[in-house]
Amino acid sequence: MNSLFAGLDQADSVALDPHKWLSIPFDVGCSLIQNPSALRDTYSLIPAYLRKEEEDDAWESHERHFTLSRSFRALKVWMSLRTFGRGRFLRAIESNIDLARHLSQVVQEAPDFELLAPVPLSIVCFRYVPPDAPHDGTRDEWLNRLNASLADALLADGRAFLSRTTLKGKLALRACILNHRTSPADIDILFRTLRELGQAIDRTDLHLVGKE
Ligand SMILES: *Cc1c(COP(=O)(O)O)cnc(C)c1O
Repeated sequence: MNSLFAGLDQADSVALDPHKWLSIPFDVGCSLIQNPSALRDTYSLIPAYLRKEEEDDAWESHERHFTLSRSFRALKVWMSLRTFGRGRFLRAIESNIDLARHLSQVVQEAPDFELLAPVPLSIVCFRYVPPDAPHDGTRDEWLNRLNASLADALLADGRAFLSRTTLKGKLALRACILNHRTSPADIDILFRTLRELGQAIDRTDLHLVGKE
């Protein structure tokens, strides 16, 4: 198991989104609670009209949660796990992690791209660094502007989508690979498109607009 998860079993609670990496249709969140009575201690509020003649151990939503009425979101998670089995989900997640490693490899081998963070799971943060990027104190500001334009250009282009973030003052393109259908060919399309758009932006100095 990934050493990043060491100690996970000691957490009081773990929150996750099955509508992310388990590919369950939106929306369903999930919290795993070490000690279920903590929920009851926190949320239990039983007005007279909900009081029972005799207390039992039935699972009452209003004793574990903010809400009383709510939809049966757990059903689709349970059905998907029953239908596809744990192994299919494991393989899909492993395949996403392999693709993220593939992308980080491609980025690290490219002279005009730079990896900005390690890739333990399936998120890859990197940036485009063309050879004419300045090497003085303006470097990050210059690259931030260029990469912001690049992220905008990719969104307009539509061949791939990624988000952006900032890591230690550096604007990062943030690829998050979650779809079980994503293939190595998609990663290559993403990378080639970024290089193509990056070169075009750099050539036209679009990223310098508004510098003054
Ligand atoms: C999905 C996501 C959110 C939003 O969480 P939801 O429970 O889907 O609303 C926030 N931050 C990150 C990093 C996410 O991946």
